[in-house]
Amino acid sequence: MASLTIDKLIKSFGAVEVLKGIDLEIEDGGFLVLVGPSGCGKSTLLNCIAGLEKTTSGEIRIGERNVEGLHPSKRDIAMVFQSYALYPNMTVRGNISFGMEIRGVDKAEQENAIQEVADILQIGELLDRKPSQLSGGQRQRVAMGRALVRHPQVFLFDEPLSNLDAKLRVDMRTEIKRLHKRMGTTIVYVTHDQIEALTLATKIAVLEAGYLQQFGTPDEIYNDPNNMFVADFMGSPS
Ligand code: ADP
Ligand code: MG
Repeated sequence: MASLTIDKLIKSFGAVEVLKGIDLEIEDGGFLVLVGPSGCGKSTLLNCIAGLEKTTSGEIRIGERNVEGLHPSKRDIAMVFQSYALYPNMTVRGNISFGMEIRGVDKAEQENAIQEVADILQIGELLDRKPSQLSGGQRQRVAMGRALVRHPQVFLFDEPLSNLDAKLRVDMRTEIKRLHKRMGTTIVYVTHDQIEALTLATKIAVLEAGYLQQFGTPDEIYNDPNNMFVADFMGSPS
């Protein structure tokens, strides 16, 4: 586990500046939610943290490490996306162990790691099934399992629940909260859903068009919004 610090981060695509100087910090074991309307730069920020996008300027530190120029696989992060592409021809076990297989982790250690995440995510019964034999929520849990076995210092989620129906979204929220409590991993979680943000976060960052409009606890953001945009977006009482 580690804290995450973002300093004066700017990201441009060609001439278009998409992130306009973001400063954020989340403590070791914290749950940071990035929230804002579609197109405001949430995924871009997450991709910069992951190393999938190169930053234009500014600094990202995981713990004490400046991760500038570090390949994603060297950053000690794991990412769960909205479209949790599982390998359709592999079992759940195969999907979870695939990365370990590649890294040459020995079989016994793989099996231990699989059992550990299967226990945490309550998917022990599903290990021999194929993705087509799983519900949407179960698939999303497998995708999380695949990320968890890597024991990342920071866990990144990009709208992981937006493809699920409303009831399941609420269940999975509880699941993710439980997971965070149990693992204590630092999480950065992207959503455009303010209720999701308010229920999951220890800290919320509200983005609008590449600007950080407010950074604070859920209570501060909801009850003491900085401006009309934040108040409107979060549905704060007026
Ligand atoms: P969000 O995740 O908040 O919906 P994104 O981070 O995906 O927003 O996008 C922020 C802005 O950056 C959008 O205007 C989008 O069109 C633009 N953008 C994202 N990725 C690229 C890219 N690879 N090239 C050019 N523009 C991009
Ligand atoms: Mg996005």
